[in-house]
Amino acid sequence: MENIAELIKKAKKETGTLILAHTYQPPEIIELADITGDSFKLAQACLETDAKRVIMCGVRFMAESVKILSPEKEVILPAPEATCPMAEMISPERVRKYKEENPDSVVVAYINTTAALKAECDVCVTSSSALKIVEKIEAPEILFIPDKNLGTFVKNAFPEKNIVVWDGYCPIHDRVTAEDILEAKKAHPEALVAVHPECKKEVVDLCDMAGSTADIIKFALASEKDVIIGTERGVADYLTLKYPEKGFYHLAPEKLVCKDMKYVDTDTLLKAIRGEAGEVIEIDEALRIKAKKSIDEMLRLG
Ligand code: SF4
Repeated sequence: MENIAELIKKAKKETGTLILAHTYQPPEIIELADITGDSFKLAQACLETDAKRVIMCGVRFMAESVKILSPEKEVILPAPEATCPMAEMISPERVRKYKEENPDSVVVAYINTTAALKAECDVCVTSSSALKIVEKIEAPEILFIPDKNLGTFVKNAFPEKNIVVWDGYCPIHDRVTAEDILEAKKAHPEALVAVHPECKKEVVDLCDMAGSTADIIKFALASEKDVIIGTERGVADYLTLKYPEKGFYHLAPEKLVCKDMKYVDTDTLLKAIRGEAGEVIEIDEALRIKAKKSIDEMLRLG
């Protein structure tokens, strides 16, 4: 009898489905994916394929980003309940009101936002491109949404700019404390510490580097020393799976678990490929075009 991995591979081939998986996904999903990476890399990589049907193993805004860039493809979110709490910590109506009240302000949205929010902002940024893009924005005021930690990281880099930071946060990265870093350093005194800038400033200040998921992976692979990985635990799981010969440690593994990223299991994935589970993502065309403009602006400035 075929095991589930074989059934998934067979169903994928029969239906011509491309599987995208964010690096926060569980190792068994990563192993079955055609492309892995962070959310924007996945949306861009998907654009370059001929696939007509795509399953995005991640949360809703990631599937929306794929659809924004590839409207002609059928994009399926296998677990429709998988959302990102941070992506909705400001409403599109609130952004619209802010812009009416502050017409000279430029609204910068982290890519981890819904399509409806992307449609209201002026430019998107990823955690890797945020500094480079904000540096180029000349405006009396910049509103950075929705993550206060990444926003503060950017604001501190440009004290000469008037940057207003929205009060949203990633509940997973925001719960890491300075004590967690000190404990991990005590347990692995020779290791370097890499964290995501969605963590609080006092956490970032204690680390050897802060960067996006892709930057953390690059840093960890280039490091001659062992590395403590301070982002969602899927990244350390992924690195350990792919590079068992190198030394990687989880930072606060009980805290750094995003439950929304773990809704997809192999059963759900197989059902979604067979059309028995999941949601086909639909975005109103006018809204999609507006949302894409903020991504195009990110690519222009980045
Ligand atoms: S880890 Fe944080 S930012 Fe990423 S999907 Fe989960 S809640 Fe959202």
